[in-house]
Amino acid sequence: MPDLRVSIVILIGLVLLLGACSGRDAEVTDPGQEQTSDGTAFHPSFSFSKTEFEELTSTLPQEYRASILAHPAAFLDQLVRLKTQPEELTWLVDKEHPLAADYAPEDLVDMDDHTDRLDLSRTGHRLRGIVLPDLLAMVDAARTEGVTLLISSAYRSYSYQEQLYGRWVEQLGQKEADRVSAKPGSSQHQLGTAIDFGCICDEFAKTEAGRWIASNAWKYGFSLSYPDGYESLTGYAYESWHFRYIGKVAARMEREFFAGIQQHLTEFVDGNADAFWSFLIEI
Ligand SMILES: [Zn+2]
Repeated sequence: MPDLRVSIVILIGLVLLLGACSGRDAEVTDPGQEQTSDGTAFHPSFSFSKTEFEELTSTLPQEYRASILAHPAAFLDQLVRLKTQPEELTWLVDKEHPLAADYAPEDLVDMDDHTDRLDLSRTGHRLRGIVLPDLLAMVDAARTEGVTLLISSAYRSYSYQEQLYGRWVEQLGQKEADRVSAKPGSSQHQLGTAIDFGCICDEFAKTEAGRWIASNAWKYGFSLSYPDGYESLTGYAYESWHFRYIGKVAARMEREFFAGIQQHLTEFVDGNADAFWSFLIEI
């Protein structure tokens, strides 16, 4: 019996000690450590104080400002990494921000050279080489799950888009054509980083491929450009088949900080990111 009492006393002692330790740990890992008492060194890569950082976010739309303020350190870590991506991956390209008529990417590759791994709707599709490694990884991953991602459209030149848009205007009239087709210059396909998958039709969302890519595209740096219910923001009706390669860093940022909406991300990059980057500390 005395042994048992001793054991109980030791056990209680250990429990108290562990409690005290975990209490201290909790203090050390408190998210409050992102804030410093003197308001400086808010993030090691940026020279702004917490107050200056919050001021920079004050003009951002409420749709995503709260998520940035909730996890500022993670957001700024990713913003540093975003700066290392080629900037055209996240250029804002829409009806108000068209590309120049003579813009054409310099690293276009012929997808017919990769028919051993890619399923193509026809010959002659081209795409920026920078997209290819992640595209191949994505279609391989889908294939291992029994899903085929058919590539139906990729790079389109300014003049090709001009013809395409002209045909839609003839068929539907300009107002309806503007909902479903981009004027030359405002198509993301001119970037060489956008891909249409499958049937290029509303039914795609309900197919196995449509469901797979909707859930997994972000892991490979692809982003749905025109989501359901966002026509007033993006200018285009829902296109479940149209994905743009924005790179893995940006795709993760879009998901974690911009409500999964590419237009929010690209508008931020276009209008606000430079103000944050101007505080970047050169390493
Ligand atoms: Zn498209």
